[in-house]
Amino acid sequence: MSTPTFLSRGTAPDQNVPTLSIIVPMFNEEEVLPVLFERLGQFLDQLGESHEIICVNDGSTDATARILAAAHERDDRIKVLNFSRNFGKEIALTAGLDAAAGEAVVPIDADLQDPPELIETFLEKWREGFDVVYAVRRHRDSDTAMKRWTARKFYQVINRLSGVPIPANTGDFRLMDRRVVQAVGQLREHNRFMKGLFAWVGFRHTEVAYDRPERAAGQTKFNYWRLWNFALDGITGFSTVPLRIAGYVGMLTALAAIIYGVFLISRTLVYGVDVPGYASLMVAVLLIGGLQLVVLGVIGEYLGRLYAEAQKRPLYIVESSLGFEPLDGHSS
Ligand code: UDP
Ligand code: MG
Repeated sequence: MSTPTFLSRGTAPDQNVPTLSIIVPMFNEEEVLPVLFERLGQFLDQLGESHEIICVNDGSTDATARILAAAHERDDRIKVLNFSRNFGKEIALTAGLDAAAGEAVVPIDADLQDPPELIETFLEKWREGFDVVYAVRRHRDSDTAMKRWTARKFYQVINRLSGVPIPANTGDFRLMDRRVVQAVGQLREHNRFMKGLFAWVGFRHTEVAYDRPERAAGQTKFNYWRLWNFALDGITGFSTVPLRIAGYVGMLTALAAIIYGVFLISRTLVYGVDVPGYASLMVAVLLIGGLQLVVLGVIGEYLGRLYAEAQKRPLYIVESSLGFEPLDGHSS
């Protein structure tokens, strides 16, 4: 059977539906915005597809909001959602996906680390019939050795633990068909590890290799502490194996305690009461106490996330928007 082609993709009869929605989450990106709009605008003009650019201003405290308003004035295909505070990249992306009208949707970083030119290849693959086309980094030369190592370990762990394979060395830079965006939109959990959610919904996917350049301007918004929490969100969101491991650790400790207990009782019965034993007592108390805290901590990680879900708060609050009407419906 030959693969079906989807040449009709990108020819929606409705004038209000652009072929391409580009989503740019941004947090304090004033330095890079002029370069971004210049390069993205140039690329999109030359591409010639109908499009919209949805800029999600994730509570920036610099001139980002002002620059975005000016950009919207110049070109109303640039639309803006201003969050009421910083909600984090994953949430900003979610808001962008909720607001996107395009037949194909591409999230892209503001710092031009995701080269817009790749979108042309994405569109080709999409028209061949793939619903998700994601960019895979050929190498990680633009990262420090430490970041490369932690990233590799992270993908090893999460792919061993989670039920759905999450491709290594990918980011959020990908093209998704409308159907995929709708499916992801149904997942309203607060613990949002977007790469995992994208993988979870499935659909026909393929990859495109690329070299990730350095940030065009400005500073990274992710320090190691934020990345660690990001990794915890990823693992707890897609696996309950840590809870099971906690159970096994408990069982093994109990088993060891029973064996040692039998040994101690027998020795006492045979040789009589043996008072010295301070060292073994301390080791046992400290070890078991420590293990209990670790296991409780693991349970706490899940419980905390469960609590956040139970509160059922909206995922984000949009303070103002430009280019969308009506405004409501973007705050769920
Ligand atoms: N970002 C965001 N909210 C945040 C942190 C980051 O919207 O709280 C955006 C940021 O503006 C950029 C993208 O997410 O467009 C990726 O961030 P960054 O380049 O700092 O991450 P890195 O490339 O260093 O992993
Ligand atoms: Mg970056």
